[in-house]
Amino acid sequence: MTSDLKITCVQIWPLRIPLAKPYHLSKLYGTLTHSDTVIIRLTLANGVTGWGEADPGGIDCDGETIDSVVQTLENRAHHLLGQSVDDWVESGKGRDFHGPAAAAFDVACYDALGRATETPVCQLLGNPCRNQIPLLWPTSCGSADDDLAIIADYYERGFCTYMLKMGDKPVNEDITRIKAVIAQLPYGVRVMVDANQGWSQEEAIQFARETESLPLVLIEQPVAASDYDSLRRVREVAGCPVSVDESIQNFSETAAILDAGAADIFSIKISKNGGLANSQAIASSAGRAGKQVLMNSMIELGITQAASLHLGCTLDNLVNCGHAYMSTLRMADDVTDFSEWIKQGVVTLPGVPGLGVNVSLGKIKQYQTGGLQSIGNTNTIS
Ligand SMILES: [Mg+2]
Repeated sequence: MTSDLKITCVQIWPLRIPLAKPYHLSKLYGTLTHSDTVIIRLTLANGVTGWGEADPGGIDCDGETIDSVVQTLENRAHHLLGQSVDDWVESGKGRDFHGPAAAAFDVACYDALGRATETPVCQLLGNPCRNQIPLLWPTSCGSADDDLAIIADYYERGFCTYMLKMGDKPVNEDITRIKAVIAQLPYGVRVMVDANQGWSQEEAIQFARETESLPLVLIEQPVAASDYDSLRRVREVAGCPVSVDESIQNFSETAAILDAGAADIFSIKISKNGGLANSQAIASSAGRAGKQVLMNSMIELGITQAASLHLGCTLDNLVNCGHAYMSTLRMADDVTDFSEWIKQGVVTLPGVPGLGVNVSLGKIKQYQTGGLQSIGNTNTIS
């Protein structure tokens, strides 16, 4: 343990930032207009800081809300004081917790240790095997014409993978829609679909059967999160891999999903999955079982996106497609400069210590929705 790497202060800010455009997800999740996040900053005894972000998915996704996350952060912050971030990272302490609040602490510990030791987070995680990842772009639940208009627009900006949100309308309409979209795709463009738990077993199997010959990248979360039996049955008839997203919240669910034969691909989100150590453990476990990983995202800001990119750059079992590093481009604003890492549909790690994003305190204050909580010694904080 290094005494100057001990955490002396935890600061917590709840934020609300509008989306650039409303995002219609599914009949379960409705239409999103804002990103609700909680930003934290750890300060170490040596004055180095580390940033973390919690992105609650709501009651129907991960059961977490802004209020529940703030409560958990405030309760746990006292236990974090005095802990050393090198101990935290090296012992995988983040694995002891789960959920978005845990993710904020874990990411902030990695960031602080990386900054203190002048090491990029990807190197703290292991051996980076790339420094760039192509992006995907999602479409709202809508018509084939809506999808094709978005695809035409973003194809010009370098995006070659699209995630079509489904599960909001009768499944026959989704089948007609995906066939119409695939018939008119620009050269080299690939699509995946995400039903966000919106189909029954019968609907999901009908979709998988009737799209079996289509070149889909994957079908994500066609049925309810806990319905492993239906996921296995969909896999049996689908012509493409089946991905789990809402089904995989905690590392402990990985083995159960594998045992049930419920997934080909694990859709990892740093906040949903409780931070870097937990997400890395899920990805490694999936890899050992011959499964692949989609780096996915909530509606999140640049701190979580940067953490996700560092992990993605260390994984040798990523699905060969675009991944979800577009979240900050969908926001009206961000508190970081992560969007500047994206050029022509590809995001590049800058190779600097910690997460590498610059965080604006001015932007945090602009979008903060509650009072700042400071826990610990704030004498040296500016
Ligand atoms: Mg999903």
